[in-house]
Amino acid sequence: MNIAKDKVVVIDYTLTDKDGQVIDKSDPSTPLAYLQGNGNLLPALEGALEGKVQGDSLNVVLAPEDGYGVHDDSKIVEVPKDMFKDVGEVKPGMRFQARGPHGVELLCVVGVEENTVKVDGNHPLAGVTLHFDVTVREVREASAEELAHGHVHGPGGHHH
Ligand code: ZN
Repeated sequence: MNIAKDKVVVIDYTLTDKDGQVIDKSDPSTPLAYLQGNGNLLPALEGALEGKVQGDSLNVVLAPEDGYGVHDDSKIVEVPKDMFKDVGEVKPGMRFQARGPHGVELLCVVGVEENTVKVDGNHPLAGVTLHFDVTVREVREASAEELAHGHVHGPGGHHH
């Protein structure tokens, strides 16, 4: 069976950056299961997997534009430290969710001054060229329930 829209696809993957540094990796005992063509994975990655069959291995290199976006300096802003008064001590590296004009955004603290905190709203992988090493373990039909939910149920997918 070929990978096509609404098929359940089970993959092993390793994600590295351009230097071969591992960013993310599926565990061999818990491969990732997703529903093709439903926005579960990056569209460019699903595009590269389209038509592949069980046992296929592929290397997919995605430019930042096809991954998590280019790094945008305007998303690094200084905000009053008062905004963090409920948090306690604010330190670089801390992550917060904030409600912004585009929904919930993940912010990372990159600097702390006396009265202000510098936060970066870029995705942690913005500006990174993504190298995916993917092996297709299984391709199967989705159940009616999986199609209704837009994601895979059971091992490697959602449990609810
Ligand atoms: Zn579901």
